[in-house]
Amino acid sequence: MQPPRTTKYLLRFDDLCPTMNWAVWSEIEAALMEHHLKPILAVVPDNQDPVLKVAPAVENFWERVRQWQARGWTIGLHGSQHKYTAEHAGILTLKKKTEFAGVSAGEQEEKLRRGVEIFERQGIKTRVWIAPNNSFDGTTVSLLPGFGIHIICDGYFRFPYVSPVTPSLSPSDGHRARERGWMTWVPQQLFCFRPAPPGIWTVCYHHNNWSAESVSKFREDLDCYGAEISSLDEVVQEWAGHSCRWSAFLCTSPRLSPLLIRCELKLWEWWRSGLIQAPVPMKADSNCRAG
Ligand SMILES: [Zn+2]
Repeated sequence: MQPPRTTKYLLRFDDLCPTMNWAVWSEIEAALMEHHLKPILAVVPDNQDPVLKVAPAVENFWERVRQWQARGWTIGLHGSQHKYTAEHAGILTLKKKTEFAGVSAGEQEEKLRRGVEIFERQGIKTRVWIAPNNSFDGTTVSLLPGFGIHIICDGYFRFPYVSPVTPSLSPSDGHRARERGWMTWVPQQLFCFRPAPPGIWTVCYHHNNWSAESVSKFREDLDCYGAEISSLDEVVQEWAGHSCRWSAFLCTSPRLSPLLIRCELKLWEWWRSGLIQAPVPMKADSNCRAG
């Protein structure tokens, strides 16, 4: 049975690590709890990226992550060290800085193992992959199920889909062939809230550079869109077993898909404006940024 085609949003916060902007985060966290929302948090297991070092490291980082997990918030594996060591765009983006894409299967496997081991040592269970810089390749996808990861949150398309995971050519992973199976792909297309046609719209935030104004805009958006915000668990359950060739094609067509999504959002805005005979203010355009 087809899941209902309505507009739903997911919230995703990237780059969570001990040295992130905790002053802003405490305000975001309070707002999320007031609205009883369950976001996706992309946690870096062992951050070595100087760009993400914006505040003194907190001592109890993993205790905080365990608290988020206990609230039912989704913890995603955001790479291993968030360090761009290669130049390769991968399958979903045209950006060429990467921790994973184009890297040998053995090296990728080692990076994933290190990341997952840190999570496990800290009592964190994950089944979601969120690649640093959106950059990974078919080898990454084929390795993820071996680490218990069956959901990827990335790509420009509207409706989640499930696809079989094809084995990589790595000789070292033959023993995991039986553990493969299916991957659920959940899109991530927005960097701020805006009216959108039916689909699952993941709004991705990088809060390290937020101002007081960004925090109040975020609060306003939660007031406005809160009823349409769902959780990853709910979405994955709803779309279980749903395959879609069109979404799969778009997901791995990084030249076409962002353009198409922008057109769809624009058309939706025009259609809505005509329908209600007055321009609909675009909610957060001035604050929008990609990255
Ligand atoms: Zn990141």
